[in-house]
Amino acid sequence: MRPLIGISCRLAQDNTWSPALVGVRRGYVDAILAAGGMPVLIPPQLDQSALQAMYELLDGVLLSGGADIDPGLYGEEPHPQLGAVEPERDATELVLTRWAVADGKAVLAICRGMQMLNVALGGTLYQDLPSQYLSSFDHEAGVNQQTWRQPDHVLMLDESSRLAEVLRTATPVVNSLHHQALKDIGSTLKVVGRAPDGVVEAIEGTGEAFVVGVQCHPEELWQATDTRWQHVFRTFVDAAAYRRTNQQHDMTATLVR
Ligand code: MN
Repeated sequence: MRPLIGISCRLAQDNTWSPALVGVRRGYVDAILAAGGMPVLIPPQLDQSALQAMYELLDGVLLSGGADIDPGLYGEEPHPQLGAVEPERDATELVLTRWAVADGKAVLAICRGMQMLNVALGGTLYQDLPSQYLSSFDHEAGVNQQTWRQPDHVLMLDESSRLAEVLRTATPVVNSLHHQALKDIGSTLKVVGRAPDGVVEAIEGTGEAFVVGVQCHPEELWQATDTRWQHVFRTFVDAAAYRRTNQQHDMTATLVR
């Protein structure tokens, strides 16, 4: 059986007059399918009991990209350059992230997802890099050029990081479509990669479980721009599958006793 990978979703509009859609860009879903996982879309409006019922089925959680996170969740007032926020999604992902990390489920966190992973574990964010972080870099190059798949800057990884090992490089060139970034790092997380201007662009958990966050969008890179990112999705799904298998063994052992 394919491991079940929950993918957090957003509420979105396809035009101004129609009711909202629940969804996620297909690159995430395609990446999980290609890596051998079974994608399970997690609606942002689940109440806690519905979320828990879905969560218990999952072997791994993919926190996807999207809008800015409410700065109130890390104790700050909104900055003038803060973009739109999604309160329902924030609430759902905050709980989901804390559960998954506490239970040692595999977590892959992308862009906003990495920011959510950090905030859920007590970290903080720069609400707007251009006005709060001194750099000549344009981390919104992809947005300004309206392209997702164009590599924009090097991601300088620690040689000893899980990401460098899986990617088989410590210097991938990545896309960049973000105006926020991590500031203070949450508990049980460590920085493993930065942009050349020092902006944190990759984090990992300090424990045994697969907990990886990246600021770039590998779901738009793995098919053509840089196929090494397929290894990251596959390692994530394999970690979820491994945990599922071991838990079944644990249950079998319990029954035998
Ligand atoms: Mn960047």
